Amino acid sequence: MRFSIPRFWRERHSHYRLKAVKCRSCGRINYPPSNICRYCGSRDLEDIYLDNEYAKLITWTIIHTVPEGFEDKRPRIIGIVETMETHIRILAPITDILPEELKEGLILEPVLRRINEDKEAGLIHYGIAYRPVIKRIGG
Ligand SMILES: [Zn+2]
Repeated sequence: MRFSIPRFWRERHSHYRLKAVKCRSCGRINYPPSNICRYCGSRDLEDIYLDNEYAKLITWTIIHTVPEGFEDKRPRIIGIVETMETHIRILAPITDILPEELKEGLILEPVLRRINEDKEAGLIHYGIAYRPVIKRIGG
């Protein structure tokens, strides 16, 4: 079996959200989340979600080859963004923007997007992508 529904259900929040853990001992944020703080070794950690924050664009790369089912989305943009409050760097797709509109420091907001499609299993995977904030205000 290629895919476990119970497992997907259990992990659905981590698929749909950008979960991190904040250390109650040293106060630092571990992303990706882990069971032990990588800064101080404490196990006293609490879940936080980075997709409650705006982020700014640090750098990006444009991918001209796209997975099957995404031909309409060519080219894809993968960026490194930094969350505005927690200053965590995240690798994520950048969406709703043209490559020529990309610029360093652009303010982005997280949005749930179709990331992948498994046609054989009939499943569509979703994940967090980032889109420009300005665009929505401007219409
Ligand atoms: Zn710590």
